[in-house]
Amino acid sequence: MARLSLRGIKKRFKETEVLHGIDLEIGDKEFVVFVGPSGCGKSTLLRLIAGLDPITEGEFILNDRSMVSVPPSRRGIAMVFQSYALYPHMDVYENMAFGARLMGLDKAEVESRIAEASRMLKLDELLKRRPRELSGGQRQRVAIGRALVRKPDVFLFDEPLSNLDAALRADVRLEIARLHNDLGATMIYVTHDQVEAMTLADRIVVMNQGRIEQVGSPRELYETPANTFVATFIGSPK
Ligand code: ADP
Ligand code: MG
Repeated sequence: MARLSLRGIKKRFKETEVLHGIDLEIGDKEFVVFVGPSGCGKSTLLRLIAGLDPITEGEFILNDRSMVSVPPSRRGIAMVFQSYALYPHMDVYENMAFGARLMGLDKAEVESRIAEASRMLKLDELLKRRPRELSGGQRQRVAIGRALVRKPDVFLFDEPLSNLDAALRADVRLEIARLHNDLGATMIYVTHDQVEAMTLADRIVVMNQGRIEQVGSPRELYETPANTFVATFIGSPK
């Protein structure tokens, strides 16, 4: 179970405010996709949720508990990056085991979780390979597997498909949709790609310059965009 509340979240880097007060409730098992142009604050918001960067102002509640001073490894949240962020000197197995060991899981539990994740993501044959011996799609599956073995309540994805070619993008996108169905985890997904947003999301959050323009189902945003920015971004005829 995972429910999140973002309340008045602001982020400043030195003098510059890049998030101006984000308010959003995300429900258990929801698939929420953040879209918006480059530089509007999507990655910054994910990093605050993951705990990789401190919130300047506002409150972030996960399952009735404030997360503001909880370290990343204790939040029950795992993030998958666009750049995969795999350790080049470790093989696939070690890449997946690393975060799980940091959580204090014993060897047998780590092994069984990796076996399960490898099966789900079709990585069984690749466990001894280094990242440089993998294709882009395989690397991204390892990055997803690494998140999976932590069994998080919440998955964060930051443009996970943007380094993949079109065919692989469709594959990995389906994989992520399937994981959402199978695991029943809450997923927060960032993209600048409207097609990804429309096909994956229960709800889409349209951001612009550090603010939320509109939140709604893909259909609501398409049929009743709040303004021309949303209409243009979603590609609706208004
Ligand atoms: P998006 O992911 O939507 O493209 P980002 O969240 O990466 O946007 O960036 C939002 C804004 O915050 C940009 O103007 C960016 O330059 C700025 N920014 C992001 N990280 C930092 C940082 N560590 N220091 C200073 N400015 C930053
Ligand atoms: Mg970004």
